[in-house]
This record gives sequence, structure tokens and C-alpha cells, in this order.
Amino acid sequence: MTQGRPLLNRRLAGFGTTIFAEMSALAVRTGSLNLGQGFPDTDGPDEIREAAVRALRDGRGNQYPPGPGVPELRTAIADHQLRRYGLTHDPDTEVLVTAGATEAIAAAMLALLEPGDEVIALEPYYDSYAACIAMAGGTRVPVTLRPDRDTGTFRLDLGELRAAVTPRTRLILLNTPHNPTGTVLTREELAAVATLACERDLLVVTDEVYEHLVFEGEHIPLASFPGMRERTVSISSAGKTFSFTGWKVGWVTASGPLVSAVRTAKQYLTYVSAGPFQYAIAEALRLPDSYFDSFRADLRRKRDLLGDGLRAAGFEVYRPRGTYFITTDITPFGEKDAYAFCRALPERCGVVAIPNSVFYDDPDAGRSQVRFTFCKKDDVLREAVDRLRGLAS
Ligand code: PMP
Ligand code: GLN
Repeated sequence: MTQGRPLLNRRLAGFGTTIFAEMSALAVRTGSLNLGQGFPDTDGPDEIREAAVRALRDGRGNQYPPGPGVPELRTAIADHQLRRYGLTHDPDTEVLVTAGATEAIAAAMLALLEPGDEVIALEPYYDSYAACIAMAGGTRVPVTLRPDRDTGTFRLDLGELRAAVTPRTRLILLNTPHNPTGTVLTREELAAVATLACERDLLVVTDEVYEHLVFEGEHIPLASFPGMRERTVSISSAGKTFSFTGWKVGWVTASGPLVSAVRTAKQYLTYVSAGPFQYAIAEALRLPDSYFDSFRADLRRKRDLLGDGLRAAGFEVYRPRGTYFITTDITPFGEKDAYAFCRALPERCGVVAIPNSVFYDDPDAGRSQVRFTFCKKDDVLREAVDRLRGLAS
């Protein structure tokens, strides 16, 4: 306290250390297998790492790169959107490179919200959404994805989404494929979101960082639906797709006016993003389809390896259609509190996981859900499953 008031401003009060940092520190401290924070234990393609080394050596990007991102990367992003989804973007005015998707989310919230604006976010929501909405002075309005025990997946209730819109709603913050549930919104669901956004004149910010990690169904960008091109800010990132989460290269694609708004905020957050990595990711986006196909196939196999193992160990398992996370329920163990369970797990069996309960406003909705990541080597996943088998005894 100074001057009789807390140091941390009131918008950030309640946002302590992120659950990912907390649980990764716990993993290091206890020497546990870390199936918590989502980062691969194998780096991405050698040729992409070498492209970054080459850029460093050749002096490309060692000084401030252009604010919106280096032209090579902006063009590669625009080409990727066209080739994959048929979306056209002018690399000069409709693409913005950011310091990971995290900065893109922050800049979008700071750029597009006025204090008091409501933001609808699917709950459980990725932790930075809550903090960024709060920093921008917005009010978060969660719409809860409900587990469907028949299909073993989570579903969006479109009636609930529609009912959450009020005259104060400024935007919907969507995430598909969805972390932590692994839900991939279907064409019908996305069409309904698009209709709602158009009817109520809402903006939509869509976080698509897992766009290439879809095992069933397909990823369809919301921006491709009628009427959405002008009201959607699409966000993605190289971290997940190319297994270089430490490089922090992300991007925004949107109409010129929306990119210009987000850029206005971004330029005062980081000004620019790390130069040499941008050249490397420009090459990564041009990797042949075989890279994306085999990356996905490998992760699908790991999903099944971990999912089957968790089920055999006694967890209730929700089957993710995308992302590299599996949400489970610990009720079969007679346990109800995911946070307490995750804090005790290293001690009990040397494994770290993430309690989904921290991603909910509704304390009951996610109380017994625990998330495990499968972006780890097969022998790590097998060892983790072996250790978790001990829980039931
Ligand atoms: N959005 C979601 C849904 C995520 O899971 C993550 C985690 N990486 C991010 C955004 C942040 O991405 P980046 O590392 O590119 O900032
Ligand atoms: N997106 C990663 C996850 O969900 C974590 C990234 C972070 O630590 N902020 O595990």
C-alpha cells in the first residue's frame, strides 16, 4: 500500500500469477511430468529453426522491424488465409504481426472497448481473456460450454449465447478450436454466431491459434461467413502450429479499419515484434501440406494414447476434436475440487495438470474438471499414464 491504496490497480485486482506459471513452477519444484502448460517438449522443424539462425546471421530483423510486421511475413499470412480458407487480405493494410496471439488479444480489447462495454466469452475461457477485458475496462459475460456426456464433448448452447446479448454488448470473443475443452465449433454453430453478430451489429474477435490442430470436423474461420468480413478480427499464432511457443509470433487479419484500430493499440504495447523470427515463420507458413498433415496425425495419435490412458486410470474423459488438451472429470475418484486435486497431484504421483475451474466464473460449472496436454513425447505420456494409474488404488 502507498497513499492508503493497493499498488495493483483495481482492474487487475484478483489476477494473481497465471495458472500456467503456477503449475509449471510446481512441476519444476517437484520434478514432476508437466502435462499442464501447453508447450511441446520437442521443437518445431529444423529448417525453420535454421531459417531464424540465418536471419540473425544475415542481419535481417536485428533492428526494429516495421511496426505492422516484416512484408515477407505479412504476405505469407495473407497467402495462407487465401490458400486455406479463400479469404483475401491486403498484406499492407489488413494483416498485423503481433507478439504472439496474447498481444493480439490485448491490443484488440484495448482498441475496441470502451469502459462498461460487455464482452461475451465462451466459458471455460483462456485466462488472458478475462485479464485483457478487465484492463480495457470491459465487463465479461460468460456463456458456458456444457459437457454432453452422451457424445463425450462440450456443446455451445446457441439459445444461451443469444440471450447473453444486451444493448451493452460490444463484441463476442470466440475461441475455436477451444482451449481447454477441445471443442471445434461446427459450421451450423458458426453460422448462428455470424447471424447473431450481424443482427445485433456486434464485432467478433476470434482466437484461432489451434486452427491446424483439428482431428475431427474442420476449422472454418468465422470471417468467411456472409457479413462477417467487416466485423471480425481473426487472431492466430505460430506457437502451436510450428511448435515454437517461445518465439511469440502471432498475427491479426481483418478489414483495414479493424487492423488499423488494433495496430493503434499494438504500437504502444510492444511497438514491434521480434524481427528474425518473423522471417522464419514466413517460411514456416509456406511449408508443404505434408508438414501440417503429419503434425496433425502425430497429435491425433498422442490424443488417443493419453485419452485411452486417462480413461483406464479412472478419469472421465471428454474427447477433444481439436487443440492439444484433454479435459477430464475427477468425480469418479470421489474428488470434487480440481484445484486442490492439481495442487496435490505432484505429491501423489509426480504429474502436473491444470484445473479448469480457474477458467470459469460459475464456480460449480467446472469445479471437478482437470486438463492434461498431450503435446509431449510418447514415453512421457506413457509414463504419466502409468503414474496416474496409481490414483485409483
Ligand atoms: N489463445 C489460446 C486459446 C491459447 O491457448 C494460447 C496459448 N498459447 C494463446 C492464445 C496465446 O498464444 P501465444 O503464445 O501466441 O501468445
Ligand atoms: N496456451 C497455453 C496453455 O493453455 C499456455 C500459455 C501461457 O502460459 N500463457 O497451456
